[in-house]
Amino acid sequence: MTSQQQPSHASVSQQSSRQTIIAGNWKMFGTAESTRAFAEEMVRDPRLAHASGNGVGVVICPPTPLLHVLRPFCGTFFELGGQDCHQNVNGAFTGDVSAGMLVDAGCRYVIVGHSERRRYHHESDDVVAQKTRAALAAGLTPIVCVGETLEERQAEQTADVVLRQLDAVLQAVSPDQQFVLAYEPVWAIGTGLAASVEQAGEVHQILRKFYRQRVSNDITILYGGSVNATNAKELLAHSDIDGALVGGASLESRSFLAIVEATGV
Ligand code: PEP
Repeated sequence: MTSQQQPSHASVSQQSSRQTIIAGNWKMFGTAESTRAFAEEMVRDPRLAHASGNGVGVVICPPTPLLHVLRPFCGTFFELGGQDCHQNVNGAFTGDVSAGMLVDAGCRYVIVGHSERRRYHHESDDVVAQKTRAALAAGLTPIVCVGETLEERQAEQTADVVLRQLDAVLQAVSPDQQFVLAYEPVWAIGTGLAASVEQAGEVHQILRKFYRQRVSNDITILYGGSVNATNAKELLAHSDIDGALVGGASLESRSFLAIVEATGV
């Protein structure tokens, strides 16, 4: 952390604008067959019905061509999300999908600003902010990812980086437009090396304090980065961690449901 932003060590109490959410990001994995099997296992598992019946939002973000396979199963116990959307409503953008198209495909959420998009598709803070605005305009709830690289953490730039990324989004949306924030340290994604509860909790507090000062409201903040059935319970027990954005461990219903169960709901 830099001394520029002082972390608040006081936990923020749960408010109605906060929800427990477990979201799965399948990245570029899965087939129609594996997706159907996943959905069938999910909907017949009583843990999913129990969690969603008690207010836990469960969201699956498969690759776009697999949305239609999950669609008949979604809506009751889990919701669908896209992994990205274009900032424009339509146009000559080969390979992209718009937020409106995701709505048509049954989505209620969309991930924006994932570090893999920032890195491999060179998405700037400004583009991520425009995508967030486009998603909100289409009626989707954006899951906005922020997070520092290992080099940035080692240079004690974590707070500066995540607040810069959040600030860009806040400048593009109005205060009444609610989105979900996901703190995903880049060094923890897909590495098996999750942030410790202390590391994640500290950044969540910094983000929450900044958001509350800017918007006078609270926000749901998920942690993402090598969350699995073993570490989920401890991470989710932190009062500032509202849920998880899960990559690898969301690909199989068994490990994903264990994380849903770890919410303790
Ligand atoms: C992610 O892709 O958002 C992610 C957190 O991946 P993993 O859980 O595999 O680290």
